[in-house]
Amino acid sequence: MFLIGSSTPASAPQSPEDLNLSCFQVDLLRLLACPASCFLHPEMFRLIVLPRRSPVEVFVFVRVTLLFFILRYCVLPVSREVKMVDRLANSEANSKRIGVVEGCFGAAGQPLAIPGRVLIGEGVLTKLCRKKPKARQFFLFNDILVYGNIVIQKKKYNKQHIIPLESVTIATVPDEGDLRNGWLIKTPTKSFAVYAATATEKSEWMNHIGKCVGDLLQKSGKAPTGEHAAVWVPDSEATVCMRCQKVKFTPVSRRHHCRKCGYVVCGPCSDKKCLLPSQSSKPVRVCEPCFVQLTSGSQASRSDSIGRMGSKFNNLSDDEDEDDSSD
Ligand SMILES: [Zn+2]
Ligand SMILES: [Zn+2]
Repeated sequence: MFLIGSSTPASAPQSPEDLNLSCFQVDLLRLLACPASCFLHPEMFRLIVLPRRSPVEVFVFVRVTLLFFILRYCVLPVSREVKMVDRLANSEANSKRIGVVEGCFGAAGQPLAIPGRVLIGEGVLTKLCRKKPKARQFFLFNDILVYGNIVIQKKKYNKQHIIPLESVTIATVPDEGDLRNGWLIKTPTKSFAVYAATATEKSEWMNHIGKCVGDLLQKSGKAPTGEHAAVWVPDSEATVCMRCQKVKFTPVSRRHHCRKCGYVVCGPCSDKKCLLPSQSSKPVRVCEPCFVQLTSGSQASRSDSIGRMGSKFNNLSDDEDEDDSSD
């Protein structure tokens, strides 16, 4: 993940020793960089802590030190990051970067520049799609996550998707085979897994997404979204229907996905539809057990929200599945 505003020049000194200073200067620099070292370093401990003999002196010293630690490790880092976002929000460079992203998506993309929006970071992630994992370009803004297909790296992207961060929940995914450093991006309308190239990149992405979501919820005073769309099981993981365990998938007997549980199911096991308002204004395909679960105890709304698919309906829903499979 390339983080905006966090890059340091390659020639910058990495440690106090690189500056070619005396031992004392190095100690002093370390002390400034990490006040905890004043308690770890024996000489510092002797000089700073031991001379305080009266209980009042020790009490005041402990209070002041505690305050210093809170400022150094809790308040300053947060305010520094907030300041960085505020500074970027009003900067010409930020507007230019957002303009470049808009340009890469072309006329088919949505306008992205709005007051207060900041581009936090960007990078290529592998998105677990229905058919197979695919590389996608992701852009993290302070309020939205944008991704698209890569036509020409860093130049042209299409099939733009915009996810409002306020409704996003993330959850780590254990490594499995080639799929490593992954996590789930869950939203009420769509949920999926993405994988970063390294563990560091994964933690950067997850930390920054989590922080943006937290900031947005704090500002709006809203509670985190409770309900999320199911993560679809990839086609390749099911050779037979995951519900009846009998129907084998072939070019004729096609795979479908239950919108409620995300299982890969056969046509007969998913010939009903339910209204899942967070996913669509129209009823969507669900498997038999999910249908039973969704309709039990809600007989009143049953007639207008659900229905068995006729043959014409079936064709339509196949097309919907096909649309989804393109991503
Ligand atoms: Zn089945
Ligand atoms: Zn289901």
